[in-house]
Amino acid sequence: MRCPFCGHEDTQVKDSRPNEDGAAIRRRRFCTGCGQRFTTVERVQLRELLVIKSDGRRVPFEREKLARSIRIAMRKRPVEEERVERIVSGLVRQLEASGDTEIPSAQLGERVMDTLREVDAVAYVRFASVYRDFREARDFEVILGSLTPDPIAAPVVPRLPGALPDGQEAGPDGTNGR
Ligand SMILES: [Zn+2]
Repeated sequence: MRCPFCGHEDTQVKDSRPNEDGAAIRRRRFCTGCGQRFTTVERVQLRELLVIKSDGRRVPFEREKLARSIRIAMRKRPVEEERVERIVSGLVRQLEASGDTEIPSAQLGERVMDTLREVDAVAYVRFASVYRDFREARDFEVILGSLTPDPIAAPVVPRLPGALPDGQEAGPDGTNGR
């Protein structure tokens, strides 16, 4: 880190400590050229934020993906695009302020719902109904991509041959085949 006072290239970190809520780290620095001290603050940058998907995979957070899901929920609602942008920016700031570098997709969805609830009831219900119905079974990405996901097929449980203990397998006529 270059010294802001004299431009000297060599400054030393004397002290590092997280701030109270852990969202940033402050470093006290000392310039070996002019002897001045100054402070730098290190924060999470959102492009480094990862979303933990339901299957455990981590993917980079994408602001545009988030914005798209909110625009879909807001479709034909009396909410201006500028407002949508402010909502997205507000959510992004929340995520930045949390200081976490990884966020479960479920938690991201909850944050979106909390915000939409205050903005537009119809948009909230659209988002929440899809999200709540599908979050156990489907990836959050589905919700981000569309508000009309495919219905979930009923699980097919195959019948296993030989499920009965030996000697109890019934013959075609219901007897033991004797
Ligand atoms: Zn200096």
